[in-house]
Amino acid sequence: MGQTLHDLFVIGGGINGCGIARDAAGRGYSVALAEMNDFASGTSSGATKLIHGGLRYLEHYEFRLVRESLMEREVLWAMAPHIIWPMRFVLPYHKGGIRPAWLIRLGLFLYDHLGGRKLLPPTSVLDMRRDPAAKPLKALFTKAFEYSDGWVDDARMVVLNARDAADKGALIMPRTKVVSARRENDLWVIDTVDTLSGRSETHQARMLVNAAGPWVDHVIRSAFGQNEARHVRLVQGSHIIVKKKFDGPKAYFFQNPDNRIIFAIPYEDDFTLIGTTDRDYGGDPKDVRISAEETDYLCKAASEYFKEPVRPEDIVWTYSAVRPLFDDGASKAQEATRDYVLKLEGPSQGKDSSEANAAPLLNVFGGKLTTYRRLSEHALEKIGEAIGIKGSPWTAKSHLPGGDFPAQGFEAEVAKLQAAYPFLAPAHARRLTRRYGTRATVLLGKSASIADLGRHFGSDLYEAEVRYLMQNEWAFTAEDVLWRRTKAGLHMTTEQMQTLEEYIAALPAQLAG
Ligand code: FAD
Repeated sequence: MGQTLHDLFVIGGGINGCGIARDAAGRGYSVALAEMNDFASGTSSGATKLIHGGLRYLEHYEFRLVRESLMEREVLWAMAPHIIWPMRFVLPYHKGGIRPAWLIRLGLFLYDHLGGRKLLPPTSVLDMRRDPAAKPLKALFTKAFEYSDGWVDDARMVVLNARDAADKGALIMPRTKVVSARRENDLWVIDTVDTLSGRSETHQARMLVNAAGPWVDHVIRSAFGQNEARHVRLVQGSHIIVKKKFDGPKAYFFQNPDNRIIFAIPYEDDFTLIGTTDRDYGGDPKDVRISAEETDYLCKAASEYFKEPVRPEDIVWTYSAVRPLFDDGASKAQEATRDYVLKLEGPSQGKDSSEANAAPLLNVFGGKLTTYRRLSEHALEKIGEAIGIKGSPWTAKSHLPGGDFPAQGFEAEVAKLQAAYPFLAPAHARRLTRRYGTRATVLLGKSASIADLGRHFGSDLYEAEVRYLMQNEWAFTAEDVLWRRTKAGLHMTTEQMQTLEEYIAALPAQLAG
């Protein structure tokens, strides 16, 4: 057959698949990764985008998960200070609220002290009769707690992991669906189809990693033929984006009478992101859309807090995704564990000798954006166990592409870029630094004027950026550029987006990738 033999073949280009591929490639394994669509086109671009311990999970006694997540906040921030930054969350409180003040105080005390907090400021109490944070809220609140967590551009975190994996030698294949995988002797034989050209390929690997997120059971059933597989519970979460409800960089944490919580977060300069919902989902994850009830729920819940109500007609964009939660039998969707589970099948796990020699498979269930790096390290322990150890953990002190500057050095990076390219408007320089960090200079190259960036598509999106995304970050379509590599779609008109689509369609296919 003449196929290349890889140590590892990873199914799924979400945060977990890309994180595992990057870690493995950096340790010296030969790695291939197939993503059937675009990177982060599944759950990993549909999150609330918090790098957080998960204050709410303390109520469900998820101490292991919360501690690991809290510790990861500053590790990830240092790893990618362009796409990750600290955020303060204001939790308004009034007497007779659904959680007593002492409980919130205890939760936040644990949050501050469970571990890993060096740079993030601790919890404080705000007097809402005077504090500017009270301005957009109803007068009901006399007090608020303010605590720290982090924020991430989720879709960019995924593609930067894929980029770094490729830079370390991994074969990264977007728009490539795994249609079947079978064991032949001690190897995996994997059949893939290029979803753009329809071309089939066969790969061989010593080990297979199934990181297909909400499709993980579907892959087990369809690609491996195990018809009964049911390990994850699909829980839908939706968000709405409205014109900004408040100024400043702080976010709000609102508690709802049904015991659930939502966030209102400053988003893309001009907007407020409000979410999320939690409801069991039974359909195909690719068809998930916000429902009228969810829209209504989010508008009503936010309007309980904001002076100016949030109305369905204020919504400028929505997105929806499905959490692939490990099914621990919890009765309510919001109580199902957010922790991850890694299940290794064969070789040493096999009960009889035929299984004992079988090529190993690692299934990844659950997880959060926040824990992807630790999940990857744990996956690498299992991989080492199964096919032999290579290298050692290295990602904690690493940088994602463009993130090689100090965690607190973002403003200095913006100033550097502005000085090197004085023709950029300040907001444009800031946005390019947010997206590309130190790699913004690769995108801008020898440009000496705005005209050198080529055609202008609207907002601050120019041809140079679109070509950079196609050549370096596997963008193939206008949607990839407008809604995942950037969020320029929020700032552009339908006609402008259409023009970009036509421009990309007219480019030679070989430009991408
Ligand atoms: P995915 O991102 O879905 O990736 C799986 C990929 O596999 C998909 O891209 C899919 O196309 C591909 N695939 C499937 N089948 C095949 C096949 N046969 N061949 C090739 N490719 C295939 N976490 C946080 O830390 N903070 C948050 O604030 C947060 N908020 C969230 C809010 C919501 C509403 C949701 C839904 C999740 C949130 N999460 C959050 C959790 C986090 O987003 C997910 O845990 C994470 O994105 C899951 O990543 P994944 O790689 O497992 O799955």
